[in-house]
Amino acid sequence: MKRHILTNDRDAACDTLTVVVAAHDEAHALPLVHPRIRAALDAVPGLDGRVLYVDDGSHDGTWEVMQQLAGEDPRVALLRLSRNFGKEAALTAGLDFVEEGAALILDADGQDPPELIPRFVELWRQGHDDVYGTRLARDGESWLKRVTASLFYRVIGRLSKTPIPADTGDFRLLSPRALAALRQLRERHRFMKGLFGWVGFRRVALPYHRGPRVAGASKFGLWRLWNFALEGITSFSSAPLRVATYLGLLTAGLSFGFALWVVGKAALYGDRVAGWPTMMTVILFLGGVQLIALGLIGEYLGRLYEEAKQRPLYLVDTWRAPAVADSAGPTGTGGDRHHADRSGFVAGQGP
Ligand code: UDP
Ligand code: MG
Repeated sequence: MKRHILTNDRDAACDTLTVVVAAHDEAHALPLVHPRIRAALDAVPGLDGRVLYVDDGSHDGTWEVMQQLAGEDPRVALLRLSRNFGKEAALTAGLDFVEEGAALILDADGQDPPELIPRFVELWRQGHDDVYGTRLARDGESWLKRVTASLFYRVIGRLSKTPIPADTGDFRLLSPRALAALRQLRERHRFMKGLFGWVGFRRVALPYHRGPRVAGASKFGLWRLWNFALEGITSFSSAPLRVATYLGLLTAGLSFGFALWVVGKAALYGDRVAGWPTMMTVILFLGGVQLIALGLIGEYLGRLYEEAKQRPLYLVDTWRAPAVADSAGPTGTGGDRHHADRSGFVAGQGP
């Protein structure tokens, strides 16, 4: 049996960190955010700070901007996916390509302040594996988004056995062993908040103020957020299926009572043909309940279907390693193992 024991790296030097940034159409935001990331990394003593930008199928010149940043800064690595795979897949790709050390996930739009990086590293160096940013304020977000978000966290907190802290996004630092653990989860429907929670280890929250975007517009409208919520609930809980069972039991019980009443009435008073409205009501009601249950089963079946296809999570168009790491070469067996993990995901290497 394969045992998954990941050793604590607390005694390790904690000296290498890669900031992973997934970007989709962020050509205007990246030049504003990159200097802030650089400055924050430079502010941490004894840290080999690197940045990995993932271009998630952008159409607005984001890739050109990234190439320029990498040209000016040898610590920048670039990954370009073959098309837009969505933020979760882009992040997965980025985390797969982190060569060594810890990883820190950051949004490209400046909503997660890079200035907090030293605080994250400090908590990591104190022995935490998963340092996650928790939002204190949601400036620049609508009333509706705030209410639905809080409702979502309450529902999923009830339904899921995996701890998913409220108001926590993807802004977090993962220690090497937490990163290695996350890399083992290759499910297609990737609800990252849940996956991070599933990994466990020593976790600590870092409260922060989430500001508005520095440029561009959000890619997550209400419809996309709704689907995201469904994704989270169905990925981390099968409670809705159980609800269908109870709903079925309840209607079956009510129907039985109703049947007794109908039969008893017919026996006592004879059966005059009447009751068309009741019959219609019952038929429509049962039809509705059955459709709801079928829809619920369908949700899970669809996910099973996606998993069964075993497609790669993303395809890579171009990988450009950081110039600094290039000269050093792959890092022993650890590096080789990560390459092995990624095999099959790299469709073609660019220049
Ligand atoms: N993003 C991505 N792929 C997508 C959509 C978004 O990589 O298909 C990135 C985006 O560039 C940004 C981050 O995910 O860095 C968060 O996106 P956004 O700011 O639109 O979301 P919000 O902050 O409004 O939740
Ligand atoms: Mg944003």
